[in-house]
Amino acid sequence: MKSKNLLLICLNLAFALIRAQNLTLPIDFPISLAGNYAELRKNHFHMGLDFRTDNKENLRIIAVEDGYISRMVIAPNGYGKAIYIHHPQQGFTSVYAHLNAFRPDMEWWINQAQYARQLNAIDTSFAQAKFFVKKGEHIAFSGNTGSSEGPHLHFEIRNLQTEKTINPLHFYPQIKDTIAPSLNKIIFYHVDGESIFIDKFSAKEISQQTVELNSSSIGLAISTFDKMNQSPNVFGIYALRVYVENERIYQFKLDSLDFNWQSHIRAASDYGIGENNVYKAFYESCSFNLTDSVSANGIIHILPKEKKQVRIEVYDFHGNTSSVEFFLTSTNEFKPNQSKAIDCRQEQILTDQKSFQFLIPANGLAENYALNYTLEKLASYELFKINLLNPSVAVLMPFKLSYFVPPSTKDIHKLYLESKIDNKVKCYKGFLQQNILIFPKLKNYGTLTIRYDHANPEVIGLPLRRQLYLVFTVKDKESGIEDYQLYINGKWRKLYFDEKNNELIYKIISEDKGKKVKALLEVTDRVGNKNSKTLEILL
Ligand SMILES: [Zn+2]
Repeated sequence: MKSKNLLLICLNLAFALIRAQNLTLPIDFPISLAGNYAELRKNHFHMGLDFRTDNKENLRIIAVEDGYISRMVIAPNGYGKAIYIHHPQQGFTSVYAHLNAFRPDMEWWINQAQYARQLNAIDTSFAQAKFFVKKGEHIAFSGNTGSSEGPHLHFEIRNLQTEKTINPLHFYPQIKDTIAPSLNKIIFYHVDGESIFIDKFSAKEISQQTVELNSSSIGLAISTFDKMNQSPNVFGIYALRVYVENERIYQFKLDSLDFNWQSHIRAASDYGIGENNVYKAFYESCSFNLTDSVSANGIIHILPKEKKQVRIEVYDFHGNTSSVEFFLTSTNEFKPNQSKAIDCRQEQILTDQKSFQFLIPANGLAENYALNYTLEKLASYELFKINLLNPSVAVLMPFKLSYFVPPSTKDIHKLYLESKIDNKVKCYKGFLQQNILIFPKLKNYGTLTIRYDHANPEVIGLPLRRQLYLVFTVKDKESGIEDYQLYINGKWRKLYFDEKNNELIYKIISEDKGKKVKALLEVTDRVGNKNSKTLEILL
């Protein structure tokens, strides 16, 4: 108990010290947030703040403190163009993502590095300081690069040593909010190795009422979101507390998150019950509370005919709060069929002995599921299709699929694994070991299909001229585009792949400008199908 208190004091001290630093905002225009820290996204917790840029790009991005550039990234997805600044004095790193461009000297340097190594995507860390920045200095231009869904700045603060993210609101007392979170639904589960949805009610409906459930071991989840002044968006809550008979049985407070915990999002929330912004208020054998829960795991034990008072409180960062109070009683015991349930603490092997084997690591699943599967009928170009669990199941650790390729199978190198999650297709390329095709790190359950990609990527139409840029539209229906190269009069030219828009973008360099040139574009998908386009064009 003592050490926990001490840790909390240390954390608070750390925040107090940082707050005393009084950081500059990363923008120099009016604040309107589009996303807050730790809000629940489909496959991750949001690790920073999203600052709205008024639907514009190329706005000035500002260094929040003195420091030096520790990393620069240019990627077709994720953070797109991003810059990381170390602030050794303060002990943290600030991160700025979805940018269009860096400060001119940095932009020049990274361009040289890309040309020297012929790299369209790059991720460079600086062991020694090369570019220094001053607090308040203009360091980059905002954009919409990577998997951004509209122009904005994604901003993070990370512990310099551990890379754990810290809630940036701790640094910015000038960001105010007076609107309390809204408490929408209370969701009930029977929890016994696996959590089974029982029922859900609106918070208003059950306030001061008695809820009767056929379970003696109950877990709660809460559908709740926050609103903030000056923003139309919906945000995540900051803290949650559950009391039973006035004793606190569960709490979290979202001050700091580790990137290794991103895989717990589907265990901390529930994407399978048709409600948004669901926060589970309990955890099970193989999942864990992300923050500072008291020792209890949030599961409410209740005897038949017993009646217990429950109070749920949700908070936003600024202390605005909403709560609901109700009573729970249990009728009789819920008896799910758990004869086939696994123990999630143990490694699991699932195989039919002839076509496949799954290896699920110990603590790779949050709950003690029954590993039922069905083999699906195959469509054309499909070799194997299985339904295992479902896409809302949390993959705490990646699992491995070994597929025993039938001897007569042709074109094995053109096979890939496809899985669908939230209507998005995820592709995995396996590797062959004797006659076994291995996919070592799968990250979602549901329908998994091993299929052929025989289609070449497409280069659609003629490139468009967009101011200083030449834009090619490309498409690959199956395994997805992996490599792309542009040559102008035989010389390599740097491209930026805007994956979400299927655009390959060439910023015309002065050497090519105004000239009639021969352009060659080569595009390759994940299984090695290639396409190229040659054209004469006036740049
Ligand atoms: Zn963001």
